[in-house]
Amino acid sequence: MIELSLASLSELTCREGLACACGRRHAMPMDYLCIGAGAIQNIPDALKIMGCSRPFIVCDVNTKAAAWDFVQPVLKSAGITYTLYCFRQLQLEPDEYAVGSLILAWDEECDCVMGIGSGVINDCCKVLSHCAGVKQMIVGTAPSMDGYASNTAAMIHDHMKMSVDTGYPDAILCDIDIMKNAPLRMLQAGLGDMIAKYTAICEWRISHLVTGEYYCESIAAMIRTAVQKVTGNASGLRQRDPKAVQAVTEGLIVAGIGMSFAGVPRPAAGQEHFFSHMWDMFDLNRGLPCDLHGIHVGIGTLLTLKMYDILRRTIPCRKKAEDFTASFEDIQWQCMIRRIYGPAADEVIEKEHTQYHKNDLAAHEQRLNIILAHWQDILGIMDEELPPLNELEALMQQAGMPMSPAALGFNHQDVQDALVGSRDNRNKYLLSSLFWDLGLLYETDLN
Ligand SMILES: [Zn+2]
Ligand SMILES: [Zn+2]
Repeated sequence: MIELSLASLSELTCREGLACACGRRHAMPMDYLCIGAGAIQNIPDALKIMGCSRPFIVCDVNTKAAAWDFVQPVLKSAGITYTLYCFRQLQLEPDEYAVGSLILAWDEECDCVMGIGSGVINDCCKVLSHCAGVKQMIVGTAPSMDGYASNTAAMIHDHMKMSVDTGYPDAILCDIDIMKNAPLRMLQAGLGDMIAKYTAICEWRISHLVTGEYYCESIAAMIRTAVQKVTGNASGLRQRDPKAVQAVTEGLIVAGIGMSFAGVPRPAAGQEHFFSHMWDMFDLNRGLPCDLHGIHVGIGTLLTLKMYDILRRTIPCRKKAEDFTASFEDIQWQCMIRRIYGPAADEVIEKEHTQYHKNDLAAHEQRLNIILAHWQDILGIMDEELPPLNELEALMQQAGMPMSPAALGFNHQDVQDALVGSRDNRNKYLLSSLFWDLGLLYETDLN
């Protein structure tokens, strides 16, 4: 049995998959994966291995400027014909309009999709290739998020953020010569999305303990190793040191592989990501453009570490928790959800009442019993997984990253609403769910 944390990227993406101590076989058979300087020279080989000859190439004005002069000569000298679609919008969102544009432009002669870009292009191309039933290659232009190798696309539908199951791409080529020239904020976003893994893994273990959900220690170890490599090389990121950019890129790919292996985003996303999901929704409701995912998530990680610090100082109390749920009223909760979620509130309330039942008293009692019986174990997990807050702050500062919600235009109330509302965003046991179970969530102040 191979140790996932020691496996190479090609071993992780091999055709037969890998037997794991968790009892599952983890498989993410990709046709081609290459990260390094000059990686795009391998586009013709990658297409051949995919069994494809004519790509439908998707980019936007920014990613075209970043990569087309590199990619086009490679296609030309290999005699590869293609159809090119370039989004003209400067602020492209991954929504039904973007995907609709691609469908209208789709060329039946093409046998695969080749995205040139990062977050938005990657997500839209995943949806397009999934729906068209063709293979997909992504040529990365920025190490800004961990979605390259994940099996979902982060989309906006009817003004709501949602995750669409699309499967992972068949080929990923990340050319460090291109990626190191990405806007600094995108490099910083990649670092933000990687430091999030500290709190994501910690929360995954706690949730496994409290709810019994699936957990794989080998995947967690693989992610920890990737995070270590990224933070160990982070000092060169601001100067665009190729070694630092390569480490972040590899880390983000490994995080995507971890999500694909687990079949859920748990190895890569927890409470810190839900601050981002909530802020994205606030921006959408206000008609403002969303900031980069990883920039949100980096700040979300700092806030989540603050929450863990609060937990360390807490003596859990059965009476307090039971008094809280005894006084909990659904109608008040609905008012709160309407205020925080606005147009999306109806769906949140309906899901709670028909599917999630997170507010159910008997289920709370069960979770509370486990939490109280295993409090020392929870503290132990936190000690094992979490870095000191000041260390992480220093790392982010060195990279020149925004450090506070205020730096992104979010005020005190936005932070509190994101904290409180995060628990109701999906049916997932978050750190905010643990706070709710202890009767702490609505009285916690993160400012
Ligand atoms: Zn496993
Ligand atoms: Zn992320």
